[in-house]
Amino acid sequence: MEFMPQMQMHQPTSVEDAVSLHGAAPDGRYLAGGSDLLVNIRRGIEQPDSLVYVNNIPEMRAITETSDQITIGGAVTLRELSGNSAVAEHFAAVAQAAGEVAGPSHREYGTVGGNLCLDTRCVFYNQSEWWRAANNYCLKYRGEICHVAPGGKKCFAAFSGDVAPALLLFDAEVEIAGPDGRRRMPLADLYRNDGMDHLTLRPGELLVAIHVAKLTTSISSAPIASAYAKSRIRGSIDFPLAGVAVAMAVAGGKITDLRIALTGVSPLPFLAKGMDDFIGREGDETCLEEIRDKIRTQAKAMKTTTTPPHYRRRVAGALAQKLAASIF
Ligand SMILES: Cc1cc2nc3c(=O)[nH]c(=O)nc-3n(C[C@H](O)[C@H](O)[C@H](O)COP(=O)(O)OP(=O)(O)OC[C@H]3O[C@@H](n4cnc5c(N)ncnc54)[C@H](O)[C@@H]3O)c2cc1C
Ligand code: SF4
Repeated sequence: MEFMPQMQMHQPTSVEDAVSLHGAAPDGRYLAGGSDLLVNIRRGIEQPDSLVYVNNIPEMRAITETSDQITIGGAVTLRELSGNSAVAEHFAAVAQAAGEVAGPSHREYGTVGGNLCLDTRCVFYNQSEWWRAANNYCLKYRGEICHVAPGGKKCFAAFSGDVAPALLLFDAEVEIAGPDGRRRMPLADLYRNDGMDHLTLRPGELLVAIHVAKLTTSISSAPIASAYAKSRIRGSIDFPLAGVAVAMAVAGGKITDLRIALTGVSPLPFLAKGMDDFIGREGDETCLEEIRDKIRTQAKAMKTTTTPPHYRRRVAGALAQKLAASIF
């Protein structure tokens, strides 16, 4: 680990001040819990000259509920999110995913905004400066080749945040503030399939809040249940090798709605395709195995962890099968 470099620290109490302080120091970074950013700085991967700390902004610290939606401030901690009764009631997978991030002490200060804006990860990148230097660095930072796919020019570092797939199930929207004011967009549009540049945020933009509309019933009026599960090396504290979120409604023993989202297996979290094919099906063994296989083919994990890609693909399918079976 490197020493912490000299940096200026700002502690604004409003979104507008945070954006303007960031604008005055374009090489700066927003800092929330710091559980990812500070590690990257100590590894020499990130070298900001200033930090704009966002956890003192009241607007970003609250979870608010109205009759039809829940708004989660970007600086709400993972402990607060996982323990919130309204979130657990309407978006069980979101509360579960937040409770599965890292270990209890990280969840105490790690935030949902930091989790959604987490950098992508790779076993050739998340290493100390001397390790990366000894391996001639890599495309994502300072190097000229990708050690995962040496012939190509694409980075496959995996997005490994737990909460994003769960929020994708519910068509969550993110509220963004930046030098040009505020805007809202679907959470899915926050990400692109590029391990080197996976966020679509424009320079200086801050994730202020997440808005999720309550969706208590599907088209068929059947209640929607949801759940999240992940595979990880250390059960007590670790990033997902593969993370799976499932939302499903069942009426009369048949699927009336099915959504599955994945994390940890590509540079972006995403909703799996082709889930409507299962509408009208009974949750028998054949159906569950087909769900497993469809997820497995879409989980295109690369060699970005010490665990082999084929295991991560298989476990993604198995988790989807297990979660779907638990909801039936
Ligand atoms: C040992 C260990 C295990 C971990 N395990 C997991 C795990 O299992 N699952 C998982 O998902 N994560 C894991 N993490 C990563 C991290 O703890 C969490 O993802 C956490 O939610 C990050 O939030 P933070 O507030 O600490 O983010 P920070 O570190 O403060 O920020 C992360 C990034 O987001 C940016 N950012 C922060 N807030 C905003 C905002 N509001 N708007 C725009 N940009 C913003 C920062 O500039 C930075 O680039 C682990 C970390 C460690 C050290
Ligand atoms: S996928 Fe390749 S370019 Fe990206 S971080 Fe890993 S080694 Fe580097």
